[in-house]
Amino acid sequence: MRKQPESQSACSPIQKKIEQAHGLHATWGDSLKQDLNINALLKKLERNIENTKNIMLEIGLVAECKSCEEEEGGSCCGAGIENRYDVVDLLINLLLGISLPTLVQSDNSCTFLEKNGCTLTARHVLCVNYICDKLQKKLAHEELIRLQECAGEELETQFLLHEEIKKRLGASP
Ligand code: SF4
Ligand code: SF4
Repeated sequence: MRKQPESQSACSPIQKKIEQAHGLHATWGDSLKQDLNINALLKKLERNIENTKNIMLEIGLVAECKSCEEEEGGSCCGAGIENRYDVVDLLINLLLGISLPTLVQSDNSCTFLEKNGCTLTARHVLCVNYICDKLQKKLAHEELIRLQECAGEELETQFLLHEEIKKRLGASP
């Protein structure tokens, strides 16, 4: 998962995608948010993400990840994972009101990892679904099922929103 320093230049793929997402947001952001279907999916996604976050907190997953970052030499959010995101994934995050980094800096971890954890609200399927061995061992079966069900709902809404935005942008002049 470790990325070489040269891939972190201003021309790195993620930097370009972030710039493109900002451009699309500036041009189409308001009109996308006014689309009834997209608006409803954005609101649903926010609720789904909130539910997943609450479960992550309740079952102690957030505390385990914090301990990895602060006491065990870093989380599993390795450099290069940011390249899995496409422009629409990033645009969805902008539509949800988050800021994307303007300069890609880290050589050792994912571009979206900051001091307090992931800066993104709508995360990639790889990030949402990932349960490391440590968590697999620590969490009870029922806790894992609860988490997976909630994460599944989040990802389904995100997929529908992603498709709807692509359709809408494809139809735009
Ligand atoms: S998912 Fe596992 S390895 Fe990654 S930060 Fe959380 S506890 Fe650590
Ligand atoms: S959870 Fe966030 S910081 Fe971690 S790998 Fe995924 S996008 Fe990067």
